[in-house]
Amino acid sequence: MSSAAAGLASAAPARHAANRRLVVGNWKMNGSRGALADFARALGGEPLGCDAALCVPFTLLGAAQSAFFGTDLRWGAQDCSDEHAGPFTGDVSAAMIGEFRASYVILGHADRRRLRGETDAQVAAKVKQVLGAGMTPIVCIGESSDERDANQTKAVLRRQLVPVMRAIGHDLRPVVVAYEPLWAIGSGEMAAPGLVEDTLGVVAEIIDFNAKHNAHGVRMLYGGSICPRSASAVLARSRVNGALIGGASLRADDFLSICRSAATS
Ligand code: PEP
Repeated sequence: MSSAAAGLASAAPARHAANRRLVVGNWKMNGSRGALADFARALGGEPLGCDAALCVPFTLLGAAQSAFFGTDLRWGAQDCSDEHAGPFTGDVSAAMIGEFRASYVILGHADRRRLRGETDAQVAAKVKQVLGAGMTPIVCIGESSDERDANQTKAVLRRQLVPVMRAIGHDLRPVVVAYEPLWAIGSGEMAAPGLVEDTLGVVAEIIDFNAKHNAHGVRMLYGGSICPRSASAVLARSRVNGALIGGASLRADDFLSICRSAATS
């Protein structure tokens, strides 16, 4: 692991009193109506003990609404347009997602930044759209391994977060921040819990400096190769308010197991 982590430590806050952990699954471009029905059946509507949501492809939002309505599991999307409406062929607006009673929209995921060239300014505009539609944006931030090794982690996280704060009047409390280092996503190797805690300390410093409130009011998640075996170690860290789960969210029993870790850690 990079030596950069050593310089990132800062005092950890007491756990947010009213804060249940939030576990969010990101199905990416996977799944089908059948897979969603199987997932819902496997969950069986049982209490999850934490806040939880599944972010599905747009085409599965209707199925998610039907399957999860009345259960502990909320649902959401993985992106939206940065525009409200108009001639943007192929785009899906936040308001359209809201029609499915979705609660969350993941924004600025590394896949979109890296593969689709999404900019920090676009992510900020999307955050405004999602808040305007009454949902919670989950803003993904994170550095590459080269950036970490070059001691650029704080600068990258600041560059990604500050435009979001500017766009929404420097009040980040309605937003969930997901720290997802690029080198951990899909790698099979979760970042070390101590490194995650230290880096969320850096995110907290950025929020404290740029927002009109302190960082304690902002829910911060970690994402990157979390699996049932590794989840409790990272969820036990005081700055980690929850988890963003990719691959492991495709299996209902793994997702449930991570929710149980979130409920007890
Ligand atoms: C993600 O893509 O947001 C993610 C965390 O993926 P994985 O858990 O598969 O690393």
